[in-house]
Amino acid sequence: MNYSGNLTVINVMEPIVADVLEEHYVRAGILKCTCDRCKLDILLLTLNHLPSRYTSSQEGEAYIKALYMNPQHQSDVLREITESVKIIENKPNH
Ligand SMILES: [Zn+2]
Repeated sequence: MNYSGNLTVINVMEPIVADVLEEHYVRAGILKCTCDRCKLDILLLTLNHLPSRYTSSQEGEAYIKALYMNPQHQSDVLREITESVKIIENKPNH
């Protein structure tokens, strides 16, 4: 679908999950494999298990990101990432 001007569809869960994965797993050094294939597979699997949060503006993105600073939401994201990490580490696509 084409949108006029700079309108675009953003699933804000994507940068949120990517940030949490990077900070709590990659930089923490607890992933068995940190290649791009594994990181992307973990990201995709997690996003498929979490409800999407779409927006079309930077304001909307900032608002949703702020919501996910909430500890309950953070722990939901962490739990899903942990599950995805287990699955991908047991069966990496390489
Ligand atoms: Zn890998």
